[in-house]
Amino acid sequence: MLLPVEDDPVSLRIMSGIDEETLEKLRSAALKVAGNAYAPYSKFCVGAALLLDDGSVVTGCNVENISYGLTSCAERNALFRAISERGPGRRIRAFAVANRDGAPCSPCGACRQVMSEFVTPDAVVCFSDRKGPQTRRFAELFPFTFVFEPETEA
Ligand SMILES: [Zn+2]
Repeated sequence: MLLPVEDDPVSLRIMSGIDEETLEKLRSAALKVAGNAYAPYSKFCVGAALLLDDGSVVTGCNVENISYGLTSCAERNALFRAISERGPGRRIRAFAVANRDGAPCSPCGACRQVMSEFVTPDAVVCFSDRKGPQTRRFAELFPFTFVFEPETEA
């Protein structure tokens, strides 16, 4: 039986052009930076590592706030750092999300929307869910991206 492409790690690597060693480095970088998280309320320390199209890796961790609603996720913090340091022209080829508890931790909906403006069409995402480690195409995680295309008046 042929697996759907999204369930076949080899197909994902071939499509994205990113080898397993690189993805493992991203996972490790995400786990390491989770140690910098500011999470005194949830104690849930999360890290994210982005592989940009220039080959660089940018990391971020979650930063909580006592108001809870102002908490910012690791993925968005990594992206904002990447834009701040390298400008808005870079694109994300892959990113990994990890936490120090080994708990399921896929990118939240808000992060998926924000990341959607900066990922390459074949970008892949590494995270863990209840079944264990996953590597998925970003497009599979977030297939119906919000777009704003107002009609222009002639
Ligand atoms: Zn998030």
